[in-house]
Amino acid sequence: MQRGISFQKGLTYLDRRRRGMSVETYRRHSRTLSYPRGIVLDSDNKVHIPYTDFYLAFGCNLKCKSCSLLNPFRSGIVPKDKLIESFDKWSKRVVPATVALLGGEPFLNPDIAEIAAAAKNAFTQSLIAIITNGVLLPKVPDKILQSLGENGISVYISQHLNTDEFRQTLERGIERLEHYAINYELHDGYSKWAKLLATDTQNAPVPCSSNAEIAYENCFCCKYCTAIHGEHLYRCSLVANMVFAVKEGVLNSGWHRVLKHQPVTLESTPQEILHYLRGGAMAECSICPEKSELTEARQLTGEEVRVIKERIREEKRKAA
Ligand code: SF4
Ligand code: SF4
Repeated sequence: MQRGISFQKGLTYLDRRRRGMSVETYRRHSRTLSYPRGIVLDSDNKVHIPYTDFYLAFGCNLKCKSCSLLNPFRSGIVPKDKLIESFDKWSKRVVPATVALLGGEPFLNPDIAEIAAAAKNAFTQSLIAIITNGVLLPKVPDKILQSLGENGISVYISQHLNTDEFRQTLERGIERLEHYAINYELHDGYSKWAKLLATDTQNAPVPCSSNAEIAYENCFCCKYCTAIHGEHLYRCSLVANMVFAVKEGVLNSGWHRVLKHQPVTLESTPQEILHYLRGGAMAECSICPEKSELTEARQLTGEEVRVIKERIREEKRKAA
């Protein structure tokens, strides 16, 4: 079933998954390839970066136990106009090798075709890839898939379930991608999963008090994924999402230290962007475990989701 796109160079989580590396191998590899070398300033004063995320939705139709972006407890889509404005402005400042359109589940955003086309128009040198769990592919309207095919948008499916029913769903979705000549990759996201956040006995995320240098040294994923949201560019997609989740009230006061993080903005100079992206460990890395681990991927049960959501509501009541 695998065919596909070649995600461009950049030492990213996608690379690790594409190459099927173990965590340890990836860590060794990432030390030898040294990510900051991929970040350069060109003669137009644009900063070249290997990879960036744009979020189309914050909610998800799956409830993965170790979702590192907390999407099982978040909701909402990002408006098309806001994304298109962000593409136009940031494409004058940065040149990502890969622009990832993701969520949550990006196909929950009904304007995904227009958004992807706008990304393609703005980031003319980039590979544009939608990152999806694939569940909605059999139901996506034809006109959306047709547009993605015509605009050369790639689709990266991370398979988080391995039941017969789910495999059949994916097969139906992939048939449709092939029908519309959309390049795709299918990856195993179910046999093991990188657990990036520590959790308590109820599976709710808890911030660590790690040595930031050690956590950063052993970080093998998000430090290679920049994230752009509105006027801000974050050098770590996990920090970006923790900031959003604190502001949304999904994370409690124990996480407030991430709000100290200062992303670069559209007002920043190219040198400031370069300096920020090339930085090493940051104080916020102390929220992450010193050693991340692989865990068996599974869906949270309805009861587990209910318990965590009740805790979030309780925290919000206390904070009000
Ligand atoms: S499919 Fe992805 S975004 Fe959705 S819950 Fe699972 S890991 Fe999170
Ligand atoms: S906060 Fe630091 S250690 Fe944690 S994911 Fe981001 S870069 Fe890695």
